[in-house]
Order: sequence, then C-alpha cells, then structure tokens
Amino acid sequence: MLRTASCIAGAALVALSLGAQAQAPARPQIATTKVEGTDNVYVFRNGGHQAMFVVTRDGVIATDPVAYGRPTGGQDYVNEIRKVTDKPIKYLIYSHHHFDHIAGGKAFKDAGAKIIAHQRVKERLSVLKDPHTVLPDESVSDKGRIIKLGGTTLELWYLGLNHSDSTLVMNLPKEKIIFVVDTIPVGQVPGRGMIDFYPLEAEQFIKKVLALDWERLIPGHPGVNDRLGSKKDAEDQLQLLQDASAEMKTMAQDGKCWEPAEKELKMSKYQSWPGYAAGLPLIARRYCGLWGRGT
Ligand SMILES: [Zn+2]
Repeated sequence: MLRTASCIAGAALVALSLGAQAQAPARPQIATTKVEGTDNVYVFRNGGHQAMFVVTRDGVIATDPVAYGRPTGGQDYVNEIRKVTDKPIKYLIYSHHHFDHIAGGKAFKDAGAKIIAHQRVKERLSVLKDPHTVLPDESVSDKGRIIKLGGTTLELWYLGLNHSDSTLVMNLPKEKIIFVVDTIPVGQVPGRGMIDFYPLEAEQFIKKVLALDWERLIPGHPGVNDRLGSKKDAEDQLQLLQDASAEMKTMAQDGKCWEPAEKELKMSKYQSWPGYAAGLPLIARRYCGLWGRGT
C-alpha cells in the first residue's frame, strides 16, 4: 500500500513538473519576426497590435507604429528595425486612422520617414488633433498608389468602406502577402472593431480582398497562435458576418432591437472561436443599428 501510494505521489510529481515545463514562457511585450519564406518581410508586434515592415536595398517601408498608450512604442519599433538593418526608413504607411494602430509616428518622422495614408486619414486627424498621432505627409486617393523601393513593390489599395472609411490594403505582389488591419481577424470573432464598421460595405470589401492575388495575410492583431491568415480565413470571416447579418435582420424586422435582440443573438457555429463571448454583443449592436434603425 505504502509503495503504491508513493508511486502515485511520484507520478503526481512527474506530472506536476512536466506541467511546469510545458507551460509557455511569458510572452514578451515586443517581438519582431521575419515572415517565413521571405527575404525581407517582418512583423513587428507590440502587445496585442502588430505591423508589417519591409527591408529593401534602398531603405525600409514601415507600417503602423501601434503605439497607443505606449509612450515609447514608436521609438521601440524604430529600434527593432535598427536591429535588422541600418538602411534609412523611407516610408511609414498608416493602415487606417484609428489611434491604436497609428499613434507613435513621431519617432519615424524624426528618423526621416515620409508618412503616407488614405486621404480620409488626414481629414479626420486634422479635426481630432490627437497629441500622439502625426498627420500624414502624403495622401492616397481612392485610386490607390504603388510604392517601389529597392526592388520591392508595395501596392496600396483602397477597396471601399469596411471596418473604417480610410483603410488601405497593402499588397506585396511578388511575395503574395497582404497586410489588412481590423476588418479580417484571423480565426477570431470580431469585437470592439464593430463600433466603426460598415456592415454591408464590409462584405463587398472582403470579396474584393479575396479577388486580389495573395496567399498570406498579416493581420493588425496577432492571429490565433500568431499565425498569418489565408483566403480560407477571409472566407470564414465573410461567412460569419453574413450569418450574423441574417440572424439580426430577422430579429430587427420583428421589432426586437435593441432589446431583446442584443441578448438573444447566438452563433453556436463560432462558439469555439476566441473572442466569441465578448464579441457577440458588439456584433449584435452593430447589426441592430443596421437592420433595426437603418443606420
Ligand atoms: Zn481600427
């Protein structure tokens, strides 16, 4: 009996220590990762936000400083780029006008970068005057723009309203990689991003993104297990929005918005996706706005 008990205790100890070993190390606040299979495409992550940067032989094209609420975030990002290359940072391109993605650009400006964004970014920032967010130097119209630097081509596409009215889809045609922020979460249920969401237009936007020639998508918030997105992820996100829209349309037209529709929306198909519980009421509210109020 004693022996059995000690065996069990021993087994428990082994299990405990294995458990401790299996535990992932604490995730650092900042990480820079080279995108697998590329020579020069990187993802810079700061907390729950991330951005793409490309190192070319004539300089660096950076995107989104992601430094909202992180006073040293812009400089931290520049420092991370400096660990990879001493080439000049030529461009800083904003994905859209939301501060959580574009605050912190001063460090880039000080490093000599030119800031580029969709024309609506400047219109909005000029009114809001956020002390941490630098105005763009150049605006891109709805026609988009192609940036060529040191052998790299980066296409900036404006594909209509989506999560914001100022989103540029950034496409690296040679690498078949796109950087799309907030509208197409990778393997997650959308949440707070719904506040500035154009539901019907976003569906068209995702269809246009799907029609572009790419294989991997870098999201503005890390995907599940830090993975990049695929066309399947974009199709799944489109399906989720269409499912939510159909459910809410029925409830809204039955006069159930805002209550009880906001509490009744259930999308069990997506229950296992991260962000489900937190995201559902925000999705419900946005679609109640659309189908219950016409806005
Ligand atoms: Zn946003």
